[in-house]
Amino acid sequence: MKEIKGFSYHKLGRRFVCKYKDGAWEKGKLTRRANVVLNESACVLQYAQTCFEGLKAYRTEDGHVVCFRPDLNETRLADSCRRMRMPTLPEGMFLDAVKRVVLANEKHIPDAASGGSLYLRPYVFGTNAVIGVKPASEFQFRVFATPVGSYFHGGVSPLRIRISDFDRAAPHGTGHIKAGLNYAMSLYAITDAHEKGYDENLYLDAATRTYLEETGGANVIFITKDNTLVTPKSDSILPSITRRSLLYVAEHYLGMKTEERKIALSEIGEFTECGLCGTAAVISPVGTIDDHGREVHYAMDDFENTVIAKLYHTLLDIQHGKIEAPEGWIVKIK
Ligand SMILES: *Cc1c(COP(=O)(O)O)cnc(C)c1O
Repeated sequence: MKEIKGFSYHKLGRRFVCKYKDGAWEKGKLTRRANVVLNESACVLQYAQTCFEGLKAYRTEDGHVVCFRPDLNETRLADSCRRMRMPTLPEGMFLDAVKRVVLANEKHIPDAASGGSLYLRPYVFGTNAVIGVKPASEFQFRVFATPVGSYFHGGVSPLRIRISDFDRAAPHGTGHIKAGLNYAMSLYAITDAHEKGYDENLYLDAATRTYLEETGGANVIFITKDNTLVTPKSDSILPSITRRSLLYVAEHYLGMKTEERKIALSEIGEFTECGLCGTAAVISPVGTIDDHGREVHYAMDDFENTVIAKLYHTLLDIQHGKIEAPEGWIVKIK
């Protein structure tokens, strides 16, 4: 198999599809059909009624195929569905669909040594025609897979991010669920950031624009001088599974203190390290935050000597079975 590099879509042989109609989910099945055929007025097309998840299946060194904490993806998808007025899945369907898609595409799971994995994308969307604004009454749940390479293929290079003048999520809005609409409105901001030489936008709280939230697709973590892991607390941040796992690892494996609290923009100069966390990269180090010309630098160039690198390697070793995982974190598919 040729080595997959980077994070992009590769069409594989099989995906899972399950339809919801007349108030019930059908059984669902694997299909070879990658294209979705919808009515022109489908609710997902007109009113963006859709949400998704992202998780990885990967090979461990002893030859098993596993997933990391898929129960949290299942719960989060249910939370997203409820907030989007979509039906939740029957008990067990999420993990069963994930397993079937992984096994059906098993030959595309990268080798353990490559650092690659099979990225899984479960999603739910409203399919029937609506024109007056209301939720759909018919839906599809799908899971497809695409192989992805190691995120740090060309080595680790710290990101340069900016404080965004755009907002990501309103108070009492949808920032805490994984809805496509949160990404649609970030596309302008991310393109603008890239054009101006930044890797990402760090968003502020929309109500007061004084506290840090997160970037477009990752939560942010900081390390203080006295070795405490600090991460923003807000109702409009997406509850990252990676971030929640890192907090546990910091406390229970590395003996660090952790704080989930409001972090003011004015504090960013007081931290010694910064990173972004999410399933794709686990942690990406941040070298610079630019707040409208005021640049704050973090010494992340010598990545292997940072506290964040220690967190990164510990979580990676837990994921890959080199260190014992907390009960239930690693789910064996094969
Ligand atoms: C998916 C996502 C994350 C990362 O969550 P993980 O569960 O760690 O992958 C962070 N922020 C946003 C906005 C997201 O959509």
